Amino acid sequence: MKPNEELGKVAQEVGVCTKCDLHYSRKRAVPGEGPANADIMFIGEGPGFHENEQGRPFVGAAGRFLDELLESIQMKRSDVFITNIVKCRPPGNRDPQPEEIETCDQYLNRQIQAINPKVIVTLGRFSMGRFMPNAKISDVHGQAMKVKGRLVVAMYHPAAALHQRSLKSTVEADFASLPELIARAEQMPEYQEENSDDNSDKDNATQLSMF
Ligand code: URA
Ligand code: SF4
Repeated sequence: MKPNEELGKVAQEVGVCTKCDLHYSRKRAVPGEGPANADIMFIGEGPGFHENEQGRPFVGAAGRFLDELLESIQMKRSDVFITNIVKCRPPGNRDPQPEEIETCDQYLNRQIQAINPKVIVTLGRFSMGRFMPNAKISDVHGQAMKVKGRLVVAMYHPAAALHQRSLKSTVEADFASLPELIARAEQMPEYQEENSDDNSDKDNATQLSMF
């Protein structure tokens, strides 16, 4: 199947999905959007109020900040694919539960396979956890890691940055380094999952020192 067709199929299935409890309270499912040939894929946490109303990802305040961040590296929303680890809004914006994330992962996985992006940028702890299960975001944010051969950069969630001023400049700096990280994709270290429960996050998530 062509990437575009597969993305369409995923979106169609997500729209009527009843595989986890999040379907009870959703208004509109939010499969994600962007070109099938995008180099960059952003993965957030889950739809919020506005996303649930509109069926589109990152259309609220966090989305406006994401647009600004993209602009700061001369990119537009239409250049990138944006989605979430769960496609339906957790009621009251509560955290997505592990079983919901696991159930919904089949859709995300198909999107990743179809798009085959050069880099995946995770936004927030939950989507980071899918790729780097034991990493701490304060340790790994802004660094490129290869996870099973795929380049992944973890970043703080834009909503967190809006609520905590000190994080705003961190997210801005992490974004600024994205083009360079993508250009140097082949040189990035592999994330070592097997050592990751020994409390030495700094060592196992081998860090790239860029400067
Ligand atoms: N926050 C997210 O994580 N995803 C969205 O789509 C919107 C806000
Ligand atoms: Fe289906 Fe995912 Fe929505 Fe759950 S969150 S109902 S698995 S699309």
